[in-house]
Amino acid sequence: MRYYEGVILVETRSILTRCSGYLRTVASHSLNPYIGCSLGRSLCGVGCYVQHNRFLTKGRPWGSFLEGKVNAAWLYLREAPRVPFSVFMSSATDPFPPQEKTAGITRAILQAMAIKPPQCLIVQTHSAMVADFVDLLLALPSVRVHISIESDRENFPGLPRPAYSIERRIEAGRVLRKAGLETVACLSPLLPLEDGPGFMERLQTGFGAIIVDHFVGGDGSATGSRTQATRLPEVMESVRQGSACLDYRDQVVELARGYFPGRVGVGPDGFAGRYLK
Ligand code: SF4
Repeated sequence: MRYYEGVILVETRSILTRCSGYLRTVASHSLNPYIGCSLGRSLCGVGCYVQHNRFLTKGRPWGSFLEGKVNAAWLYLREAPRVPFSVFMSSATDPFPPQEKTAGITRAILQAMAIKPPQCLIVQTHSAMVADFVDLLLALPSVRVHISIESDRENFPGLPRPAYSIERRIEAGRVLRKAGLETVACLSPLLPLEDGPGFMERLQTGFGAIIVDHFVGGDGSATGSRTQATRLPEVMESVRQGSACLDYRDQVVELARGYFPGRVGVGPDGFAGRYLK
């Protein structure tokens, strides 16, 4: 084990994990290049469900650690099934933390995927850095890039700001979409919107589809109890009454359908690319 500019490099025993639970119908496998997440102290980290995984955190505060799986690309080449498979990257970290610039772990995995491509790669990220990887993503046969943008508000009272501004993430979507990649805006978990129609118009400039997911039913517990134990619901309600309830998701879904006809997904269906008719 050694330190590398803010990321500890570790060797792991396997890299592809069979999807179950929420991701069961989304992809056959998940892939996490890192353990921990350096975006964990930003807005998305407040409600991030991964922080409740004690096996993974080992008691460390969420956002305080990042371990890079230095042998990930090599393991990928060894584990990639011979039968068609799909990959969700990532379910328990962000594949593009700032340290990726020097650690290059996700980069090496994408290069390995060009040798043994999955039938479909779903990239899930909060990071505008994903736009820097456009060439590697274009080298794969089928890619869907999900960029999380939970709200059109940059500020929530008492909560940290997002790691990347809304505009930077929309711009990343524009870059990738212009290059020919399928891009999806993830309102996940949905936070209160300030100007719903205006937000949808902005998202149309960078994304071909939209996913709306609420923490109720979307945080790995049946009723949203994991998120209920955080500050998020109280702040959501203080900003917009009713936004911590599932009805708010349905209101936003109806709004989104007017801007992305046939291209709005809800919950796991959305992450799987199954959209409302
Ligand atoms: S980027 Fe993803 S994994 Fe990291 S803290 Fe935010 S929600 Fe959690």
